[in-house]
Amino acid sequence: MEAEHAFQVYLIQYQGVHLSDYITFMTQFRIIVNGLQPPEIIDLHTDTEQRIGELLTKVLPDHHSLDILRVRDFARSEPKDVSSDYVEQEASKGKGAFIQALWTLYAKSSLYRLASKAWKRHGPQNLTTWTLLAQAVLDGCYAEKWPDTVFQVPDVCSICLSPMHWPEKTHCGHGFHLQCLLQHLDVSNTCPLCTAPNPLRTS
Ligand SMILES: [Zn+2]
Ligand SMILES: [Zn+2]
Repeated sequence: MEAEHAFQVYLIQYQGVHLSDYITFMTQFRIIVNGLQPPEIIDLHTDTEQRIGELLTKVLPDHHSLDILRVRDFARSEPKDVSSDYVEQEASKGKGAFIQALWTLYAKSSLYRLASKAWKRHGPQNLTTWTLLAQAVLDGCYAEKWPDTVFQVPDVCSICLSPMHWPEKTHCGHGFHLQCLLQHLDVSNTCPLCTAPNPLRTS
């Protein structure tokens, strides 16, 4: 769900206590979330999942482990898997635009959903903790699962001609989407580009 649309929905659907406080909180939280900047230094050793889990436990002790996955685990999605024109368009720009698009499309919506759930279950929420949580999610989008390739202009897979952020490298040095390559290998055990034999041999 697109973030702005999600925000409106969670605002309208709320039927818990402290309605006007809730609206104030969500409106401020949205401004903060939209103003968050990516980390200047991407620390690949920080366990962002653990950090997100700790913060989420503070505000929503009864959260589900899937809640953490939903806010951070977009790893290995190629733009074509996401089936969003917006993401595909952004992804083709490279230089982190893909991550920003995923953050906007999925992570922000999930944060609004979780904040709304926390209000319904536990009443008024602490904006400082939610801000830390949102920043941890944004950092998590950039950390560990996002190698340098994502920040370049992505290659195009020469089999399906779609942008490719996670190339599967062959021994001859060519890259393809893993799924595209496997389909080709079912037909012929050669590199689709240079026809070198047995391109994924393990030894
Ligand atoms: Zn492909
Ligand atoms: Zn090759």
